[in-house]
Amino acid sequence: MQVTRELFNDVMVPNYNPSEVIPVRGEGSRVWDQTGKEFIDFAGGIAVNCLGHCHPALVNALKTQGEKIWHLANVMTNEPALRLAKKMTDATFAEKVYFANSGAEANEAALKLARRFALDVYGEDKTQIIAFNKGFHGRTFFTVTVGGQAAYSDGFGPKPAAIDHCDYNDIAAFEALISDKTCAVMMEPLQGEGGIVSPTAEFAQKVRQLCDKHNALLIFDEVQTGVGRTGDLYAYQGLDVIPDILTSAKALGGGFPIGAMLTTTEIAAHLKVGTHGSTYGGNPLACAVAEAAFDTVNSSSVLAGVKEREQLFRTGLMAINEKYHVFSEVRGKGLLLGAVLNDTFAGRARDFLVAGINHGLMSLVAGADVIRFTPSLVIPIADINEGLARFEKAVADVVNG
Ligand SMILES: *Cc1c(COP(=O)(O)O)cnc(C)c1O
Repeated sequence: MQVTRELFNDVMVPNYNPSEVIPVRGEGSRVWDQTGKEFIDFAGGIAVNCLGHCHPALVNALKTQGEKIWHLANVMTNEPALRLAKKMTDATFAEKVYFANSGAEANEAALKLARRFALDVYGEDKTQIIAFNKGFHGRTFFTVTVGGQAAYSDGFGPKPAAIDHCDYNDIAAFEALISDKTCAVMMEPLQGEGGIVSPTAEFAQKVRQLCDKHNALLIFDEVQTGVGRTGDLYAYQGLDVIPDILTSAKALGGGFPIGAMLTTTEIAAHLKVGTHGSTYGGNPLACAVAEAAFDTVNSSSVLAGVKEREQLFRTGLMAINEKYHVFSEVRGKGLLLGAVLNDTFAGRARDFLVAGINHGLMSLVAGADVIRFTPSLVIPIADINEGLARFEKAVADVVNG
């Protein structure tokens, strides 16, 4: 069967509008489409392919586990899940892990746990969940309502209740909102979808202090920032703020679907037998691949490499900007970077993305004003240079109309 872009319109629900490009093969940070055209991948499947495409350690884990056992229901204990959980707890503040299949599912578990914990410990009045405008936490109805973008959560009927929002980095607004009725605060330790916005150190610390004061749980959504993306294994480690619950997905499986919620023994105790679950969550195949990804990323050489690569991106993007004057700043951390368009080019991030595709470069946007780069954490230096050269051509195209 000949698969074309037109077939998408014939057979798919129209909730996506994918590119005309149909990639069929990838190796490292290079991808080839149906016609054999080559792309440099600065998108990484939206911060998922942390080790590029078909990394040997991941292929090996997939093949090896694929010939042993794929799926067991959670009525069975399985080796890969427990090995991965042990490694994740050894490497973080957490003592307990729950496995899911996606970021939204990990966040759904975190929110349900926070509500149950507050009910058990403090009674039924402590239900408020505070989150931040422009935050993104997934597309289940609970998580999309906690996310701070009405465009994603409206139009589906009555929403889960007791969810309030204020601006990210606005300490006064947050302080005015939080009280003893607050059950949990959910935040990204660097807003991804919302435009690559870092928290100020003061804001992150104040959120932690106020959560402590009001006995509210602090949930860090590290679905995009986690597993090496910012140059730390998890972004909280670079912020000196320890959450009570942390969620991880995207890069965790390096391209194989898996999500995880991490917390302390004390809090975890409230998800008693039967209170929550998932058919596929923690399946051996996903956990075996994630274990290989986690082991590879959680090394000083890969994490230091992220910081080196960040500098190459920043230097390269600023050099392009000196010639073409398109950005007001380059922001973000590690390999979660955003080039923010200046007033002249505001609203045109998609044009740069499309021009990039024409020159063999895959990138992303984060809203209408920010071009987002989330490449492989181990992208070869030569591919960074070649990708930036292609991006420069794309910028020239947009600037010259
Ligand atoms: C992508 C993302 C999610 C949603 O993850 P899914 O796997 O698509 O459900 C949640 N939170 C953040 C911060 C994300 O970037």
